[in-house]
Amino acid sequence: MNNQTVKVPFVDLALQHQPIQTQLQQAIQAVIERGDFVLGQALKEFEAAFAAASGAEYGVGVASGTDAIALGLQACNIGPGDEVILPVNTFVATLIGVIHAGAKPIFVDCDPQTALIDLEAAARAVTPQTKAIIPVHLYGQMVSPRQLLDFADTFKVLIFEDAAQAHLAEREGYRAGSVGSAAAFSFYPSKNLGAFGDGGMLLTRNPDIAQKMLRLRNYGAAQKYIHVEAGTNSRLDTMQAAVLHQKLPYLPQWNRDRFNAAQHYNIELAPLASSGLIPIQNHSGEGHVYHLYVIRVDDSCVVQRQQLQEQLTQLGIQTGVHYPIPCHLQPAFIHLGYQVGDFPNAEMLSRQILSLPMYPGLSHSQVQEVVSAITSSLSTQEQKVLCI
Ligand SMILES: *Cc1c(COP(=O)(O)O)cnc(C)c1O
Repeated sequence: MNNQTVKVPFVDLALQHQPIQTQLQQAIQAVIERGDFVLGQALKEFEAAFAAASGAEYGVGVASGTDAIALGLQACNIGPGDEVILPVNTFVATLIGVIHAGAKPIFVDCDPQTALIDLEAAARAVTPQTKAIIPVHLYGQMVSPRQLLDFADTFKVLIFEDAAQAHLAEREGYRAGSVGSAAAFSFYPSKNLGAFGDGGMLLTRNPDIAQKMLRLRNYGAAQKYIHVEAGTNSRLDTMQAAVLHQKLPYLPQWNRDRFNAAQHYNIELAPLASSGLIPIQNHSGEGHVYHLYVIRVDDSCVVQRQQLQEQLTQLGIQTGVHYPIPCHLQPAFIHLGYQVGDFPNAEMLSRQILSLPMYPGLSHSQVQEVVSAITSSLSTQEQKVLCI
């Protein structure tokens, strides 16, 4: 489909960069002049700023969110022989991180209303080998910190947050990244805080975890040419850190924009609930940062998710599905031994969910345009059904 026919894009990054273009260019220019492209000054500054903004003590920038999970788990001394509990309905990078750390992933199902990890199912999955739980703050909504801390206390496991979709999200007085022993963030361009390429960070308030993470990302070196861990090369580029640091002050407003757009969706979509179109629920009040705005196309609806998505594309509305195949059914991970039917809620959601356009600057009238396109798709289909 060519660009002219797109009426509402899924995301619009140019919209957030255009007004601050000059300062972004100056920040990049400053790195070029200093020449400290790897582990430079702007990286240290951004690590400190992002950790402080998130209520954590230390930040260690790495090459991606995936590496923040893989190396972060290792920094928490999790590896071979350890089991790590994670929700099955997450981006595959959560799983890849666990596997790269050498630990055994143990999947659990989700709550069908919020799409967040089901902590009762997680409790049933605990064994003597369980070392950690990874709550994924999916779509920008935190998993309840109080329930997580209770869980960790009851089962003596550590909490490792996957906060890749939840920069500055809040719940019950906690910020994403300040609940667990450590937390992984991604700065992939379309995340709430996005770089001009890949990037990630581990946050922690534990100095030992931070120190080990600094070594792991830098060939395992405690000092130059003395390698005390089997580390790797995974650093957040100084230039990306400089860009991210310039963008960080705008993040609270961008998150509020997302929240306001979500409120508009909630209001506009309310009449369609009786037709089987149901937004994923927000149980965290104003702390939800809506990385994605996701609805369920219930089995009772006259259209199926795929049909609705195709019709919206025809009408110039871009949408997404996060995610169409749960981790346990991905071809690469069949050997883990799970089967269709093991996680009914996640499997149902993977068939029903649809992500609507969401980005800072999405206007009220664009939200109305999306919802009226949905309404017209539903009524076209209703008429077809009546004619048969
Ligand atoms: C984006 C994302 C990641 C991985 O981040 P990358 O920077 O793309 O490696 C991990 N977990 C979740 C939930 C994500 O959305």
